[in-house]
Amino acid sequence: MALLYPDWWFEHITRIPVEFFKERGIRLLVLDVDNTLTTHNNPTPAPGVMEWLSRMKAAGIKLTILSNNHAERVEPFARLLGLPFVAGAAKPLPLGLKRACTQFGCTPAQTALIGDQLFTDILCGNLLPGVCSVLVTMQEPEHSWFFRQKRRLERPILRRFARQHPRQIIGETHL
Ligand SMILES: [Mg+2]
Repeated sequence: MALLYPDWWFEHITRIPVEFFKERGIRLLVLDVDNTLTTHNNPTPAPGVMEWLSRMKAAGIKLTILSNNHAERVEPFARLLGLPFVAGAAKPLPLGLKRACTQFGCTPAQTALIGDQLFTDILCGNLLPGVCSVLVTMQEPEHSWFFRQKRRLERPILRRFARQHPRQIIGETHL
């Protein structure tokens, strides 16, 4: 179960302060897109995301996008945010994450992966030892059958995590 547990769980990405990363020596943020920076397939970032990215950049934190979605979706979004990206990343395989660390000259311990899904984002972060895995509450439930099954499987794991690690949850998690 530990591989599916995030190190931290925040209500929303914009609720994570710069100090959270500074205190932990984290210099690189590897970001999911759908249901993390905006809702699924939405071309517009969620309210507050652009300002949050600016705060991170101003603090000298490096940012990159790692998404399993296809390039046609990810590329224009990444361009709007002014961030480098990898699409079709095949998370939870940690290859893209490992490459991001190398590319930005950061060790896994200096890196945080932030995303909304346990079976892709959090597992990916946990498969590269040292990386800080940060879950953010999904912004809007997906409608496809496949996604609904994934969310159904996530729920009991999240409930158990919340019971066992309440101090690693910041904000309201809507369980
Ligand atoms: Mg996502």
